[in-house]
Amino acid sequence: MHILVCGGAGYVGSHACLALARAGHEVTVLDNMLTGHREAVRWGRLVDADILKPETLDSAFDRKVDAVMHFCARSLVGESVTDPYAYYQNNVTGTVNLLEAMRRHGVDRVVFSSTAAVFGNPVSDMIDEDHPKNPINPYGASKLMVERVLADAANAYGLRSVALRYFNAAGAAADEGIGESHEPETHLIPNALKAAAGEGAGLKVFGNDYPTPDGTCVRDYVHVLDLADAHLRALDWMDREPGAHRFNLGNGNGFSVLQVIEAARKVTGRDIPYEIGPRRAGDPPVLVASSAQAREKLGWTPKFDRIEPIIETAWAWHESPAY
Ligand code: UDP
Repeated sequence: MHILVCGGAGYVGSHACLALARAGHEVTVLDNMLTGHREAVRWGRLVDADILKPETLDSAFDRKVDAVMHFCARSLVGESVTDPYAYYQNNVTGTVNLLEAMRRHGVDRVVFSSTAAVFGNPVSDMIDEDHPKNPINPYGASKLMVERVLADAANAYGLRSVALRYFNAAGAAADEGIGESHEPETHLIPNALKAAAGEGAGLKVFGNDYPTPDGTCVRDYVHVLDLADAHLRALDWMDREPGAHRFNLGNGNGFSVLQVIEAARKVTGRDIPYEIGPRRAGDPPVLVASSAQAREKLGWTPKFDRIEPIIETAWAWHESPAY
């Protein structure tokens, strides 16, 4: 198939391109290159377009597109609290622009990057798909709005979609020259690895007074190649199943910030100095996935189900020449 990967120059998008190419699909990347990396576009042509400029989108559909994978988004919880307009514009308006372009060009399948942030503060330990959705930050709210748009579009236009709610994407395909690099970097694992390498301004732990065993936030880390694999499975699923679908993607194991730092210390063999700072706005205490539905319906089994091997791949990327 020919897949249009919007945001394919970014972290999860570039790993999806790799997985698509490995499975024999043709890839076109659409990216505005604001936060993407040109050198990460290695498995297909790049169309320089912007989902906030609808008139630029048609050029990505000059060859018949069979399905879209949509990764373009602003995705920083803290920034979404301070700059919500940017989040609603990019993540909601931009997505509607893209869906309209798909409709103009007769493309009726999309895999959408959603997030655990749609759930807000969970009311139970394992979060399944039906868990109440009460996002506590604009980032999560913007993604939940798009899930609603996709459901309405299924009714109105017969759009087929799968929204994949990632928990915490982590790791890299260092041997293929891709990995996580954001500027500025806000995510825990890359920041811990920077601290291990003596780079950056020092690692801060955002709050140790949460209602968790060690007081720091608990998250479910899932390898980016396992996420990519779920996207391929979602393509197959849409072939069989019309309508709008949603799946949670995580390992089902929670690790606190301090546990992640300790795992990174073991993997790197280096000291990781940190300071305890204040809480970061918009962070729920615990987010752990039940991915039973993805396992059962998509046949998805994460290959990386422990935190150390995930961090090992992130460290290999950090130590690679492409980093
Ligand atoms: N975190 C931290 N220090 C950092 C980056 C993150 O203490 O330098 C914490 C953050 O507050 C959250 C967890 O680590 O509790 C995971 O944050 P990250 O930004 O990696 O992912 P998110 O959960 O926001 O998607």
